[in-house]
Amino acid sequence: MDVIRLKALAKINLGLDVIGCREDGYHLVRMIMQTIHLFDSIQLEKIPEPEIQLTTNIHFLPTNEHNIAYKAARLLMDEFKPGQGIRIDIKKCIPVSAGMAGGSTDAAAVLYGMNQIFEFKLSQRQLAKRALTLGADVPYCLMRGTALAEGIGEKLTRLPCVPRCPVVIAKPGISVSTKWVYDRLELNEQTKHPDIDQLLTDIQEQDLKKMTSHMGNILEEVTVKEYPVIAHIKEILLENGALNALMSGSGPTVFALFEERSQAREAADVLRASGLARQIYVTTLFNV
Ligand code: ATP
Repeated sequence: MDVIRLKALAKINLGLDVIGCREDGYHLVRMIMQTIHLFDSIQLEKIPEPEIQLTTNIHFLPTNEHNIAYKAARLLMDEFKPGQGIRIDIKKCIPVSAGMAGGSTDAAAVLYGMNQIFEFKLSQRQLAKRALTLGADVPYCLMRGTALAEGIGEKLTRLPCVPRCPVVIAKPGISVSTKWVYDRLELNEQTKHPDIDQLLTDIQEQDLKKMTSHMGNILEEVTVKEYPVIAHIKEILLENGALNALMSGSGPTVFALFEERSQAREAADVLRASGLARQIYVTTLFNV
């Protein structure tokens, strides 16, 4: 096999809590991760020259070692020296700097795809170990589905699938740096934490309504304070039939879960008309 085409899926956080900070500055989290059917299309192709070539449809993204997908390829090329090179083409659809792990999922797809086409024969666990050196979310992006992520995000426990409901994704025309948000998060006695244990119970019980009512993201406090447009987008989605709406990751993307696809489409139309969000998608949760 010389060419492989992959879907690098975006994620949302059904729950995101921060419970502390490590000495090296990494935050300790408890997050419920969920992949959705919104993806970057990645094509990997073997080339005779022992180099990495990367192209993308997004003009402002780096195409060199500053692109995390490039870094993923470098990692495996340096370790296995396959004697050939790789051409990576990324058609991005996942909003960038949006709290949807867009870069991490591209990196995971490159690790997975190169392992296939060069037949490195790395197990899932061996791939995950390498993925973690690229970023805390990359092992989850390899795993996909519904999972509890602890530690710095790398300790993963697979959870039962959440009912495959419709989801609206809305990103306002602002970009938020993950580091900026985490640096401003204050943890003290007054901090309100989402109830991740309750969410875990709701997921075990497959109760979509209860689950959506317990969704929460501790980082909203930081990002929404700075960008009130996030709260306005949530309001519109809630007024238009969403079971609940929440910021994903460090933001600014908002996602909303619905019972019916028609409701999700209508809410997306109202949001479009409001002009508050630049990128709006109607899709579904993705289960493995
Ligand atoms: P997370 O949810 O993991 O915090 P994010 O969705 O907030 O991620 P990304 O879209 O992964 O953020 O992008 C963050 C930064 O990484 C951007 O500044 C972007 O320029 C850079 N970057 C490098 N490679 C990529 C890539 N393949 N796709 C997207 N961004 C990339």
